[in-house]
Amino acid sequence: MELKLGKNKRLVIEEVKENNLELSYVKRNLFEKASSEVQKEIFDFAEKYKKFLNTCKTERECSRYILEDAKKYGFKEFKFGDALKAGDKRYFVNRNKGVVLFNIGKNDLETNGIRLVVAHIDSPRIDIKQVPLYESDGMCFLKTHYYGGIKKYQWTAMPLSLHGVVILKNGKKVEINVGEKEGDPVFYINDLLPHLGSTQMSGTANNLISGEQLNVVIGGMPLADVKNDKIKNNILKLLNKEYGIIEEDFISAELSAVPAMKACDVGFDRSLIGGYGHDDRSSVYPAYQAILNANADNTNMCILVDKEEIGSEGNTGMKSKVYEDLIEEICFSMKANVRAVRQNSICLSADVTAGYDPNFANVFEKKNSALLSCGTCMCKFSGSRGKSGSSDASAETVGKIRKIFDENDVYWQTAELGKVDLGGGGTVAMFIAQLNIDTVDIGVPVISMHAPYELISKADLYSMYTACQAFYK
Ligand code: MN
Ligand code: MN
Repeated sequence: MELKLGKNKRLVIEEVKENNLELSYVKRNLFEKASSEVQKEIFDFAEKYKKFLNTCKTERECSRYILEDAKKYGFKEFKFGDALKAGDKRYFVNRNKGVVLFNIGKNDLETNGIRLVVAHIDSPRIDIKQVPLYESDGMCFLKTHYYGGIKKYQWTAMPLSLHGVVILKNGKKVEINVGEKEGDPVFYINDLLPHLGSTQMSGTANNLISGEQLNVVIGGMPLADVKNDKIKNNILKLLNKEYGIIEEDFISAELSAVPAMKACDVGFDRSLIGGYGHDDRSSVYPAYQAILNANADNTNMCILVDKEEIGSEGNTGMKSKVYEDLIEEICFSMKANVRAVRQNSICLSADVTAGYDPNFANVFEKKNSALLSCGTCMCKFSGSRGKSGSSDASAETVGKIRKIFDENDVYWQTAELGKVDLGGGGTVAMFIAQLNIDTVDIGVPVISMHAPYELISKADLYSMYTACQAFYK
């Protein structure tokens, strides 16, 4: 039986009765249940998402893209001290590395609170050191320090692109983006050939390649008219010609090596998407797309933060005071008590979760795992080994969100990340919950999370979008 999302709730109920399932909790594959109309929406949404992924590989690129989109939808810049009124749609850019979109609703702010979705726009990657440049034995390299929790060996022997900014001695900001356009050169981290790899391969995977071995190859052609460091000097000459950079400028630079691959459909049926940065751009894209068209009755906020992958620190991470400041500014303008507003607010902490992988079944407890294509996944808690480090949403909060989803025919599932004693993970949920805001985690199940090329289902991505739409409605 076909299910038409959003309208034909009756069909779901009929089906449930037909199969006598009303007493059991069963996860179902959204592709199987979606009407041809919904199938089309799922695939259309995925196309727009892939474009976003291919354009946005760093938090700066995400910020810019989202900002441009928001302006098209009538969002105007907000500066601290601006007066706000019902109907306003505003954006706030945090140091080019984060964006907050919000609209002021007609409903009473104090009693209704704010509906927040928070997602992170940073992804694991290979950052370039501040004194990175050296040459050795026919190759020129950049020294790196990886960003976020990665399996280091996964980042070798593949095409990488370089993204970021350099602040020159004179204060001018130069943008670098090499390796994405057709015909661009790419960059590379070496791995050892298997013929000489027997010692390497007998070690633990953690030591297959060390942090200090993650050096990025950026050239190999010597300059004729210098004595030493001929290749390095040639690269410096090229960089100076193209960008005006001298070696010292790397000190005030933020450069990252990221996978140069484009997001692609995966599978003969094109049901899945492979790409870099599904964590957490598969939350970011649905979340901000949903607020662009959100109903103006609620006061809604979409917070897109940096630094989640390294602990949410700094003034662009979720622990920054700036987000509290923004909520306070809204309350001040709308003459609402900020403490009451926070207490009555509710937040979706939008971040991906681990998708159940039958190839690694031993690390999952299947009943409480996120199954691919069964919808976006609400997690009551994250954390590890005894829920440590989790804000653990209350049953009331989960109940409230569940009701919103069910009333809007959102296809969703629930899970936790892996077996109890095996590990786990944290999200920004706990930092929002600390503000006295009811917060629950939700996100798309990801296969091979934190790998250079991650895998998700188009159905789950679309489900995340419908979840955010329902929440903001
Ligand atoms: Mn994440
Ligand atoms: Mn992550």
